[in-house]
Amino acid sequence: MARLTPLLTALHRYDKSLSTWGRGKGTVIEAPVLAWLVETKQGRLLYDVGCDWKKLDDPVARAQHYASFVFGPPRMTSAQRIPALLASLGLTPLDVDLVVLSHLHFDHAGGLGDVAHAEVHVQQAEREAALSGRDPACFDDEIRAPYRWQEKVGGYAPMEGVTVIPSPGHTAGHVSLLLERDEGAPVLLCGDAADLEENLVDEVAPGLCWGDDPEPALASIRALKRIARDTGAELWPNHDLAFYRRLILR
Ligand SMILES: [Zn+2]
Repeated sequence: MARLTPLLTALHRYDKSLSTWGRGKGTVIEAPVLAWLVETKQGRLLYDVGCDWKKLDDPVARAQHYASFVFGPPRMTSAQRIPALLASLGLTPLDVDLVVLSHLHFDHAGGLGDVAHAEVHVQQAEREAALSGRDPACFDDEIRAPYRWQEKVGGYAPMEGVTVIPSPGHTAGHVSLLLERDEGAPVLLCGDAADLEENLVDEVAPGLCWGDDPEPALASIRALKRIARDTGAELWPNHDLAFYRRLILR
């Protein structure tokens, strides 16, 4: 059983076709960049940690890292750094026991420096693919830093009531997270297996797929929907501003 709190670490404007394969070119959307705090009897974990503040705050670093992107840098305030967001909940980074990364893109793994004491779970296939240098959305210093990496293969339960579910496609070793909650239905955090509700409803792959192949991503969307049906879980997309706004109001 777990308590789940979304942490809004940044907002990012980009072309919608980056979220929906073959759709939405020319439409700019604004997306939340989220980390998720999961609190269980066995400890606290963060599912993703957002961007690296230093690369956004410093103009030189920002230009260096984001200039070549087809989309601009996310907008992140100092109050949206992980330590500040945890402080607003009466916690410090040291209260985080474990980080589980959905994948190694800059908007998911960039904040690791703020919780560098914690173990970091990532799929072996994900780390290998990132280290290959073939994914421009992975920043080299973030994936090579001497964090407490623990490479995993396949699904497992990092804490009671929390299940890591492989959902490759967007990246080589992407994972989603299934949670039994203290109150309400279980939740299946899709991560970037589904940026938007549209990805789930219409079964559209994310706009960026590993190897430019949308099929594994589509298979993952279908698998997540099957798991949701079997467990009664709600499917929560990861970069959907309208969904996020409804979530924090309920
Ligand atoms: Zn993302």
